[in-house]
Amino acid sequence: MKAIICGGTGFIGTALTQYWLQAGHEIIIVSRKTPEEAISHSKLLYRTWDGLTNDPEPAEEAHVLVNLAGASLSQRWNARGKSLIRQSRIETGAAAGNLLGLLKSKPQVIIQASAVAIYGTSFSETFDESSPSRVMDFPSEVVKTWEDAADQTYEGVRLVKLRTGVVLGNEGGAFPKMKLPYMLGFVGKIGSGRQWLSWIHLADMVALIDYCAACSDISGPVNATAPDPVTNDRFGAAVGQVYSRPHWFPLPAFLLRAALGELSEILLKGQRVLPAKLLQHGFVFTYPDLPKALRQLRT
Ligand code: NDP
Repeated sequence: MKAIICGGTGFIGTALTQYWLQAGHEIIIVSRKTPEEAISHSKLLYRTWDGLTNDPEPAEEAHVLVNLAGASLSQRWNARGKSLIRQSRIETGAAAGNLLGLLKSKPQVIIQASAVAIYGTSFSETFDESSPSRVMDFPSEVVKTWEDAADQTYEGVRLVKLRTGVVLGNEGGAFPKMKLPYMLGFVGKIGSGRQWLSWIHLADMVALIDYCAACSDISGPVNATAPDPVTNDRFGAAVGQVYSRPHWFPLPAFLLRAALGELSEILLKGQRVLPAKLLQHGFVFTYPDLPKALRQLRT
């Protein structure tokens, strides 16, 4: 199989690239610039967005295009940061659509990154793919715009929109930063501790992208979350238990707001999201529950 991975140099893209290369697939990573520490492999090509648009031949006859590109949400949500987060997704989506338009033989499936923020936040509700999207804050607005653009750009092609929870891995993403205060032993619950955290282990994230690429009857929104969402308090307690650290000193919401501004909202609010579609289609999670995922990350 041949795969195009836009934004393939990042946290998820690197793990996906390694997984597919090990399976013997051919990969083209589309990037803003060739990374300094690029993986070297005979079946891996790096192309810039402009480079591939000018010469799209290597992307012909790919089975799947995965679009993971977008500026990190983990930056100050001032006007500049918000604009970068929004624009980077609109522009890379348009560039991916432009590339598809140039191909004589188009991919059979597009896998587009999205996020659970599209459901809005709630302390009491549970969301699955049948739940409506709700624009109620900056993340939900960005993700809704992102998905709507993908629906338009890829009309007529099988499109999987991966509504992703917090991806847990040691090499990047939020987990190393989330874990740090617990490791230093001075944090218990954050804010009320009742906010939901829908998470997924990186290995399952990669495996489900592969599953969605192969399974021709999966399309539309797919929640990329483990079947065991937890409250912040339970998350902290589980980290404390697995890493043998105390979990006792609450971090008040006002301190977090003072330190992080509006960005603190992603730590103080959340959503309980279940992977109904993946389970219906028979996907088997290697790390279905948090203690098992954390024990693996500790090794
Ligand atoms: P990373 O930030 O690690 O990687 C994203 C990639 O996007 C980068 O490798 C980079 O590629 C590209 N990129 C970064 N900034 C810009 C920009 N300003 N303009 C264009 N491209 C840019 O993200 P992850 O791998 O963690 O996540 C992949 C996608 O999944 C992201 O869109 C993210 O929002 C989404 N997601 C991730 C979650 C997580 O927990 N990790 C949770 C929910 C959603 P290059 O520098 O090569 O151009």
